[in-house]
Amino acid sequence: MPQLRFAVLTLFPEMFDAITHWGVTGRAFQAGLWDLHLQDPRDEAADRHGSVDDRPYGGGPGMVMQAPILASSLAKARQAVGEQAKVVAMSPQGLKLDAALVTSLARHSEFVLVAGRYEGIDERFINHYVDLEISVGDFVVSGGEMPAMMLMDAMIRWLPGVLGHEASASEDSFSDGMLDCPHYTRPEVFEGSAVPPVLLSGDHAKIAGWRRAQAIRRTLDRRPDLLGMDQLSDDDQLLLEKWDLSRQ
Ligand code: SAH
Repeated sequence: MPQLRFAVLTLFPEMFDAITHWGVTGRAFQAGLWDLHLQDPRDEAADRHGSVDDRPYGGGPGMVMQAPILASSLAKARQAVGEQAKVVAMSPQGLKLDAALVTSLARHSEFVLVAGRYEGIDERFINHYVDLEISVGDFVVSGGEMPAMMLMDAMIRWLPGVLGHEASASEDSFSDGMLDCPHYTRPEVFEGSAVPPVLLSGDHAKIAGWRRAQAIRRTLDRRPDLLGMDQLSDDDQLLLEKWDLSRQ
């Protein structure tokens, strides 16, 4: 029984091989932990050219995806994934995707994602049918497919059984409001740089302390917006000092 069910309205269903065929999300898909239904709005096109878009009212460049086509495509997708599914349109004008939004979406287990193309989607479809618009960042890409896959991947990683406990999502960046620590593997010396000796010590408590100190230092250096110095606990302060990372 899949724990997460997605349907996606997309003119390019083949693109979704990227998350169903490879890596962590691909393995989880093959194992039936999540499910994907691809609904091509072109199936709803009335003319023999398969048109799904038309020129914008008022003029201007580009084409706009038509509301009636998307509405009947959505009706089919809902049948596949569940009538109560949350409808999310991918849009640069939406709420910016971050770890907190991924966590709050996990309250739901059925989604229809709408991937736009061209200049975008007729506003009336959004007003009538879309619960939430989500953006992957303040830039524009040419279609909603990759943003939809980013959202799905970010959610799938949290499903029990998807990551082994050795690679828990809760140790990744952002899950505790901090960036991840740096990672090292063989060889022990690369172009004159040795692995930090503590990692070879076999002392697990010491290693955990060093990793936390590194994570705090990086977060302060790169993303102070995630963690203010005033939010550091006394233990964290001591840890930074212990590892000589408390510079300002
Ligand atoms: N004219 C639109 C952009 C259209 S880009 C605007 O300026 O707002 C075509 C489609 O790509 C969009 O409908 C949306 O589904 C997707 N898209 C583009 N940038 C995106 C972003 N940053 N986040 C999520 N989806 C995006």
